[in-house]
Amino acid sequence: MQGEVDDIADSGSHRDRIVAALSPSARLLFDAIDGNVAAATRSRGERTLLVTVRVFSPEWLDTARQAVKASIRAAWPDQYLPITVLTATSESRLEHGYPFELQRLPEMLAEASPCLCLFPPDHEPPEMLRAISDAVVEIADPARENIERLLGLGDALPHLPDGTMGSAYRPLELDFAVGRGRSPAERLSLLQEISGLRLADDARSGAGPAGTTGAARPRIEDLHGYGEAGRWALQLVADLSAYREGTIGWEDVDAGALFVGPPGTGKTLLAQAIANSAGVHFIATSYAQWQSNRSGHLGDVTKAIRAVFEAAAKNLPAIVFIDEIDTVQGRGGSDRSADAWFTAIVTCLLECLDGIGRREGVVVIAACNDDANLDAALVRSGRLDRRFWIDLPDEASLAGIFRHHLGDGIDASAIDRVATLFAGTLSGADVVRIARDARRRARLAGRSIQTEDLIAVAVPGDERAPAVRRRIAIHEAGHAVARMNFGQVPTSLSLVETEHSGGAVVFDVDEGSFEGLPGDVVREAVCMLAGRAAEEVILGSPSAGAGGSASSDLAQVTRIVANAETSLGFGGTLVHGAQIDGAAVHRRLARLYAETIVLVRRHRAAIEALADLALDRRVLGRAALAEFARGHGFIDPDHGGPA
Ligand code: ADP
Repeated sequence: MQGEVDDIADSGSHRDRIVAALSPSARLLFDAIDGNVAAATRSRGERTLLVTVRVFSPEWLDTARQAVKASIRAAWPDQYLPITVLTATSESRLEHGYPFELQRLPEMLAEASPCLCLFPPDHEPPEMLRAISDAVVEIADPARENIERLLGLGDALPHLPDGTMGSAYRPLELDFAVGRGRSPAERLSLLQEISGLRLADDARSGAGPAGTTGAARPRIEDLHGYGEAGRWALQLVADLSAYREGTIGWEDVDAGALFVGPPGTGKTLLAQAIANSAGVHFIATSYAQWQSNRSGHLGDVTKAIRAVFEAAAKNLPAIVFIDEIDTVQGRGGSDRSADAWFTAIVTCLLECLDGIGRREGVVVIAACNDDANLDAALVRSGRLDRRFWIDLPDEASLAGIFRHHLGDGIDASAIDRVATLFAGTLSGADVVRIARDARRRARLAGRSIQTEDLIAVAVPGDERAPAVRRRIAIHEAGHAVARMNFGQVPTSLSLVETEHSGGAVVFDVDEGSFEGLPGDVVREAVCMLAGRAAEEVILGSPSAGAGGSASSDLAQVTRIVANAETSLGFGGTLVHGAQIDGAAVHRRLARLYAETIVLVRRHRAAIEALADLALDRRVLGRAALAEFARGHGFIDPDHGGPA
């Protein structure tokens, strides 16, 4: 009895040293497998120990190797023990040990040192190996509670989102997060930040763990803000699954689409999410990538294009995502040498898109910011024939994207406030940046992320002089009240300074309300001019605030009026695309401005009241503006429409 106690005490210190040397991620796996592996090690008798392990993710193979070796060594009485490792790889890189070959096992086992066979999740250990192993261990994806324990998160602290598993992280990310001297909350925030950065990078590069569909990667169901494109994406996933089951033929699957929209709106992410949800291979490519292939000679570029489609053909079904397809110029341009170059590239692309047989099982999604100059043949029926406009997210979508990137721990009303404020002005990529800055702010303060971090980063303090703020408030209130006068309630009025403006009024563009009548032109122009007019009427003079950039009030209203003169037939000519008559545009603008001044004078009290309210609250959302509009008789108190 005494001897047994001594044994345990001895092996305790030996074991402690081994366990202490493990990285945090290896410790996580060690705790999960130690029972089985140690029992097999202790009971080996005269046999050479053989342990077979299958790991939940190829990303974690190396960590599993460390954990299992530590468990064998900790249960072995000797200090030093050579262990032979054989790794069965799918496409993951073999970093340690030898490749797994069943026929080499007898030779390995004859060396009488323990032998460990490692398998990634998509690789089934052979039955014969299972039969002769002392232990066959399946390392399951670590549960949320185990990761939280590793991070030291107690009951009172924030938690990982429901359903989070170990595979959401790379081992190195956990190891960095669980650094010395960090509080549990700091660890959590750092972990979320570094894994978020990796996901963003992966989505940008289209890279991913080879041969996996990536449990940590978003699926369409997790995403917001895609409207029609999102609905199409869900349908495509259903079709791909029906095709794989043999219920429908390839001719019933939409095999091409074009996503058009501003940068950072998640076009790449959506294509990747389709592949994740459908469990199909994803290959991201672009013109820049083809061109960087070797010398960038035409032959190398077309070779690179073909290589992409050949790679897809080897991994069917697959999604090929071509980013920035607008860099490939349409044929027939004025520059003859560029035209010859791009003609060859477009022809090669068309061949790849049409290639009989090769295209079965390949969905091609292309993305660009502007599709005006794409070669018409690329978007013809049967090719990239479905076109989806992916715009900056609206209020509800923006709130969803913020929640997606911030996780729990932030007050829902704070997210809604920020979403109201920035609807129509921020992309998903901007949200990632704000979320990262907010997490950093929390980390520097030594705590987990809170509502105030989001507000401080997204809505920074206002350092402008009071007179400047009041002028901006009057200007924006002028725009908003003019809209209300036409029965439209804006969705937000903000006095928060952004990179592009000192304040903003956002309203839903109601396509139905623009009937193409002269009245519509007047309404839009008056609403645009009302900011400047409010400054002039209430403050005595206008500032330069309405002018400046191409998106300024004056630039927009000039475009509206010029368009009415030259294309809509409301000017002196019915000829479409007639030369702009500057004098006529000026006369029309001057008349519209005079009308706007009259409108502003009539609603001066309302504009001042709204400006005061905005100065008080900085941001007015849809509800506050609707209440104001009702209170001032702009909309019917019972029906919400024009009074
Ligand atoms: P695009 O291809 O349109 O330029 P990306 O797909 O590269 O945009 O988006 C950049 C990053 O912005 C994404 O990796 C993601 O983190 C974030 N993002 C963009 N749109 C969304 C969205 N709708 N939901 C969640 N995240 C988004």
